Amino acid sequence: MRIINTAEEMQRTALSLRAAGRKIGLVPTMGFLHAGHASLLDVCRPECDVLAVSIFVNPTQFGPNEDLDKYPRDFDHDCELCESHGADIVFAPTPETIYAPDHSTWVVEEVLSKPLCGRTRPIHFRGVATVVTKLFNLTQAQVAVFGRKDAQQALIIERMVRDLNIPVRIIVAPLVRDEDKVALSSRNRYLSAGERGAARSISRSLLAAEQTLTVGGAAAAAGEVEKVRAAITDAGGTVDYVEALDADTLSGVTAGSRRVLLAAAAWFGATRLIDNIMVEYK
Ligand code: AMP
Repeated sequence: MRIINTAEEMQRTALSLRAAGRKIGLVPTMGFLHAGHASLLDVCRPECDVLAVSIFVNPTQFGPNEDLDKYPRDFDHDCELCESHGADIVFAPTPETIYAPDHSTWVVEEVLSKPLCGRTRPIHFRGVATVVTKLFNLTQAQVAVFGRKDAQQALIIERMVRDLNIPVRIIVAPLVRDEDKVALSSRNRYLSAGERGAARSISRSLLAAEQTLTVGGAAAAAGEVEKVRAAITDAGGTVDYVEALDADTLSGVTAGSRRVLLAAAAWFGATRLIDNIMVEYK
């Protein structure tokens, strides 16, 4: 497994791999990898000849009062996980090699980025769309895998790739949960034992809602939103949002909605967690 630390070396390597006819797959991450990330590598591995994993805590997707400086890191463990899941390249650039000091070009998706996390994190998806575009250009990936854990992010990337004719096939892999059903997240590391216990209220209530929505149809969505909100609040969490939206448009659920996304974000102490379920209707 090769470790690449500069944008320039990544692109040079990728272009020569492409010239040799190799198909490159990319799993973009911010590191501190866990079994959720590993599942993305496992999905990507059979889809490509060369599996690249990027590890980059992207400063432009963090707001001024967010956790950029304390975002957890463990590069050695990350490399072990990547190697054991078949990665060929770990691309771990420093911010300086990704962003020129006078960087002034952004990729902005203007509709799907507005609700849910976009409301409290107004610059977040601009940072994500921009860095993912850069990672696609640097790695020359033909296929990339994202997790349903960040359902809104995955939708925005799919929309961006479609709208800008970016020649990358996007695969969205299932959300991976811990044994207690809490969604795996690098940020779970911040939780105290008590907060971790309280955080189970999100997954528990969302999974109950998933069953109700599967049986009861999209009309049950409004009631389930209230139940999830109450479960989080009762456990001592502070709700950022709980919303049920049409998963293709991220606008309100209608009788014709093909997929419903029920998404939640909540604070447990100083830690903001997100989770979601998605129900598909025939
Ligand atoms: P992050 O390192 O948190 O930026 O996540 C990198 C990629 O891993 C994103 O596509 C996430 O959606 C995905 N991911 C993170 N946690 C999980 C999880 N629990 N299950 C599935 N995918 C995940």
